[in-house]
Amino acid sequence: MASIAAPMSHARPTFRALPPLSLYVHLPWCLKKCPYCDFNSHEKRGELPEAQYVDALTADIEASLAKVWGRRIHTIFIGGGTPSLFAPESIDRMLTAVRTRLPVDADAEITMEANPGTFEAERFRGYRAAGVNRLSIGVQSFDDAKLAALGRVHGADEARRALETALATFPTVNVDLMYALPGQDHAAALADVREAIAAGVPHVSAYHLTLEPDTHFFRFPPALPEEDVAAAMQEGIEALLAGAGFEHYETSAFARPGHRARHNLNYWTFGDYLGIGAGAHGKLSFRDRILREVRERKPQSYLAAALQGDAVFEAHDVAAAELPFEFMLNALRLVEGFATDLFTARTSLPSSVLEHGLREAETKGLVERDSRRIRPTERGQRFLNELQQLFLESDRR
Ligand code: SF4
Repeated sequence: MASIAAPMSHARPTFRALPPLSLYVHLPWCLKKCPYCDFNSHEKRGELPEAQYVDALTADIEASLAKVWGRRIHTIFIGGGTPSLFAPESIDRMLTAVRTRLPVDADAEITMEANPGTFEAERFRGYRAAGVNRLSIGVQSFDDAKLAALGRVHGADEARRALETALATFPTVNVDLMYALPGQDHAAALADVREAIAAGVPHVSAYHLTLEPDTHFFRFPPALPEEDVAAAMQEGIEALLAGAGFEHYETSAFARPGHRARHNLNYWTFGDYLGIGAGAHGKLSFRDRILREVRERKPQSYLAAALQGDAVFEAHDVAAAELPFEFMLNALRLVEGFATDLFTARTSLPSSVLEHGLREAETKGLVERDSRRIRPTERGQRFLNELQQLFLESDRR
């Protein structure tokens, strides 16, 4: 087990074993920018430079090889943006480029995000043939009025058709839903979840609509349900999904047994990921450091930089002092918490550096632990931000 000898802020990690490695691929275009969205997504104007973008991703992988040499890829996530704007042939060429350059597990989970507004059955079959085995569909709601209020390009019927075809085509499917929408009441929020359950999806992600800076909704806020109404919706959604046999395993994620998102679990357990594509973030561990990097954000800048052999916009080693917060920011999202040993395995720090934060969290009833596990209490899950903040400065105490 790793240990540190120097004061934490100056110490370098010493890893005996590196964490599992995932690959994230960002495709940055959408048909239209949604008013609540703060992702790196850009409205499509004219033809997409699909072929050139796949060339850029390929060049990005090649330039990254030295950083992940000898390591296997356990999961791939193709996110965006709206990846389903890309033709199946482009997704196939991109995945082939990955497989010919990096060792990918034979049973790797390969997820792709899709928007019902770009749905065609033939396309879904093409993505499946390319190797995608998990489709994540951004439904958000099955109510036309709510979808219009969210500025979505699809209606409820398109979402239903996309879902039906996805379930017939992919071994596993996730539906993204949002609640606490403009003008939504408790019954309407639950009706969306009921419809997803009835459709037979094995994984649901239910997100509270929040007004993020730099979005249209932030500048022109719509009238949203009060906080206590939103909290009651969340409780109702959790109860409904639990009653239908879903395990609530992360703040917003619910899965039938065997359908948890392995790629996201790797983030939440502070695993490594290589991020390629415009604005993609990566976290990579080496024997003696943890590197964070971000790719060029604007699609055109990314294309040019990647094709010239260096798409990295910003990179830095994570200071040991930042690791407790970074780890807890992720791991405390897990409803079942995490094994105490995992903290040391992923950060190379002794778990004693968490002690001050943990004691405070216990006093406030936000975590519970035994000798082997640390987990958020129900109250800790409700007040997750407050709980995470307790580990912000644990190195200075
Ligand atoms: S479709 Fe998704 S990524 Fe694109 S703008 Fe809307 S919320 Fe953002």
